[in-house]
Amino acid sequence: MTQLKLTNSLTRKKEVFTPLDESNVRLYACGPTVYDYAHLGNARMAVVFDLLTRVLQTLYLKVTYASNITDIEDKIITRSRETGEPIDTITKRYTKIYNEDMEALGNMAPTIQPLATDHIPEMLAQIEALIQNGHAYEADGHVLFNVPSFKKYGGLSGRNRDEQIAGARVEVASYKKDPADFVLWKPSTNDEPGWDSPYGFGRPGWHIECSVMAEKHLQLPFDIHGGGADLKFPHHENEIAQSCCAHGHEDDLTSFAKVWVHNGFLTVEGEKMSKSLGNFTLAHDLLEEGIHGFVIRMALLIAQYRKPLDWNQNCIHQAKKTTQMIYKTLYDLSDCDVIELDEGQKNEALSPLYDDLNSPLAISNLHQYCKEVSANPSDDEKSLLKAKITLLAETLGFFEKDAEEFLNFGNDDLDTDKIEDLISKRNEAKAGKDYTAADALRDELLNMGIEIKDTADGTEWSKT
Ligand code: AMP
Ligand code: ZN
Repeated sequence: MTQLKLTNSLTRKKEVFTPLDESNVRLYACGPTVYDYAHLGNARMAVVFDLLTRVLQTLYLKVTYASNITDIEDKIITRSRETGEPIDTITKRYTKIYNEDMEALGNMAPTIQPLATDHIPEMLAQIEALIQNGHAYEADGHVLFNVPSFKKYGGLSGRNRDEQIAGARVEVASYKKDPADFVLWKPSTNDEPGWDSPYGFGRPGWHIECSVMAEKHLQLPFDIHGGGADLKFPHHENEIAQSCCAHGHEDDLTSFAKVWVHNGFLTVEGEKMSKSLGNFTLAHDLLEEGIHGFVIRMALLIAQYRKPLDWNQNCIHQAKKTTQMIYKTLYDLSDCDVIELDEGQKNEALSPLYDDLNSPLAISNLHQYCKEVSANPSDDEKSLLKAKITLLAETLGFFEKDAEEFLNFGNDDLDTDKIEDLISKRNEAKAGKDYTAADALRDELLNMGIEIKDTADGTEWSKT
């Protein structure tokens, strides 16, 4: 029996994953706050949880993947004030762009993408339950979760009380009973978005939305909760506190989600990529520059999901070479018979991914398979390699476009007649031993952004 191993942040161990219900594996990952374009750090999170969903799909018939959209938050209100645009114009626009960009990176749409603003009544019901259970209190138009009322608080992040207070950068508000208490509901002024509630006109805090949406769409407990490592504290710690305490399960941190999975940071020169540091690259900009989404995906999968991944110019360059090699190999194998892998062969091909989503090993195996193809093996071996490459590449999330389409990506605007003409002139020059002319023609092609390679089958060209 194939086993998937995942590192569970709650136990801090790599464990065999056992679903609560094999007929429906349920997964939740915290999605973006939609006030701007997604940067590559956000994209890493989307790619990692899409990969996890795909790997689970190879083992279980049904996987329900929920990933939310935070469409009410102070950053959105600030953006609306700065630009004069209504809040829902901003949130709708950036939700659409996020979904388009993530699709371009080969991500499937989550099974459910709940919006925070569609769940205000459920949030108010959970806040009321927390007040009833003695875990939350009203103060000065706010409702706050009382952290000392939950003895197991800190179980996920392992932070002690001093670290909790320091790490949360909690504003010392006079109405708080304890400095670590966090907001469940806060008052809105008339020019801020808000809803009527028993505590006055106001809006929810950020953490309560995920507790409520995960419960509504996945039922409790569910299998896996994920997000970027920055969310472990305080966001996920607070989700656990709310959900366990609202249901009277204060002793059981797993009564909300069984397994917690966190992706490491995408960094730039060692620092987390973030909007606030200004060191970000937008997925949207790279796509606009004409970089294929699969190349960006490859660059994001080159490190195992828990490890930091440092972003630099070379990432795209390397990823492009690898992606092209895979598609080129598949293109060369176009006429080769398609065979069905047996269970053992499938498991062998996918084994790196079953070991805590070891995507770098999976990619290195793809390299190896491609190398074996280029050594011109027998037809049977070619068919086996084609099947393995296809399965592994598809599970990594590549390959929804066919090989030829990928290899021709971005070539529509190229003058292919001119390219072919220059190449044949260069070949004539070479044949006539006029190397100066041949080099000049190669340079002319390079200036057009075209790289050429002489192979046994003739001269091949590609975009630089
Ligand atoms: P945000 O819109 O900032 O709430 O982020 C959306 C998702 O992206 C969350 O799951 C974050 O943990 C994740 N995320 C944000 N920045 C990074 C980063 N630099 N590296 C990896 N994941 C990130
Ligand atoms: Zn969340």
